Amino acid sequence: MTTDLAKFAKDNGVKYFMISFTDLFGGQRAKLVPAQAIAGMQQEGAGFAGFATWLDMTPAHPDMLAVPDPSSVIQLPWKPEVAWVAANCVMEGQSVEQAPRNVLNRLIAEAEAEGLYVKTGVEAEFFLLNADGSEISDPYDTAEKPCYDQQAVMRRYDVIAEICDYMLELGWGPYQNDHEDANGQFEMNWEFDDILRTADKHSFFKFMVKSVAEKHGLRATFMPKPIAGLTGNGCHCHISVWDKTGKTNVFAGAGDGQTGEVGLSERGKHFLGGIMKHASALAAITNPTVNSYKRINAPRTMSGATWAPNTVTWTGNNRTHMVRVPGPGRFELRLPDGAANPYLLQAVIVAAGLSGLRAKADPGQRHDIDMYAEGHRVTDAPRLPLNLLDALREYDRDTGLKAAMGEAFSQAFLKLKHQEWNAYATHFSQWEKDNTLDI
Ligand SMILES: [Mg+2]
Repeated sequence: MTTDLAKFAKDNGVKYFMISFTDLFGGQRAKLVPAQAIAGMQQEGAGFAGFATWLDMTPAHPDMLAVPDPSSVIQLPWKPEVAWVAANCVMEGQSVEQAPRNVLNRLIAEAEAEGLYVKTGVEAEFFLLNADGSEISDPYDTAEKPCYDQQAVMRRYDVIAEICDYMLELGWGPYQNDHEDANGQFEMNWEFDDILRTADKHSFFKFMVKSVAEKHGLRATFMPKPIAGLTGNGCHCHISVWDKTGKTNVFAGAGDGQTGEVGLSERGKHFLGGIMKHASALAAITNPTVNSYKRINAPRTMSGATWAPNTVTWTGNNRTHMVRVPGPGRFELRLPDGAANPYLLQAVIVAAGLSGLRAKADPGQRHDIDMYAEGHRVTDAPRLPLNLLDALREYDRDTGLKAAMGEAFSQAFLKLKHQEWNAYATHFSQWEKDNTLDI
């Protein structure tokens, strides 16, 4: 059933719609459209100059139209006269191939054609900083092991409870909130859902957390490693695959071998095999910034652990690996970070997983060890890329994954990300001076 947005506005007292899309760098772009004009926009889309965003377009490109997907509409709980609606990008009647939500939609259709329905949940960690982003907002949040700190979470009750109340109102099924492992860091969990809904909610969650934090005179950041020496912002993703009715979990069941022992079916094993096989390349998507590589491959943090992987390994219920199988019928990918584009994150999981299913990929040996303490004993697993450039090169080399994500997307993504790397590489840092001046 298609929601008529003009009627939605009338029924709910909405004065403006934010017609929103996400560019290749994860930036959310929107036009604020008065309710009086939404009927036309719902048909035609809102016009944008693609070049002005990160989509690899030139100023000569024709108008790009962001056509709202009315099923995604969310009335802002903190400003009910405004509603947010995710849009799909179209140019001259054609879907813009590199636009992240289009990439995800295409992969969802591929999974559907194979009778599969992917569901995921994300754990989008964030820090609450002071308004200029220079420091943790709570000067008393200094414990060496601040995870689950009761006193510290209550000092930010007004922010956390406001966001949680909104998720309750929206029917997302939030079920827990905590202070995370770094000073100033929090995590809020809501129910897993179908993969497009999770991506839309993930986008909206970032917008909502930032908006509520600003309202309280704070700044929320999802930056992978905003503070040296502290645990970074992960965005762990819990993945399960269901049949087309969405009722039967096809990952659950008695598979054989080491994956069967931890409750994954044969299809679960092969999907996981795809993730393992493409891990070094998909890191370019799940860990897409220069700063991402300060979270993975990090030295031990003040709390004693980074909680981030550095090697392509999987295990049972043990958080020191890239993939954890916490129980039957699902697994957790612990690689993604807070900079991951919500749509591309889900898209690359489906792309790698489907390729694993088709190739009957084997995830390799399960390592039931503490990777943080004994990782040096693992000699048969690749290390994750050490920096963004290595990740981009791995992605470029992985022709199967590139094709699955779409050639137009892959080309645009690699081009813009190489430009970003080059900008970083030409930045002159104090570290160089400190270490080279007297050479
Ligand atoms: Mg966490």
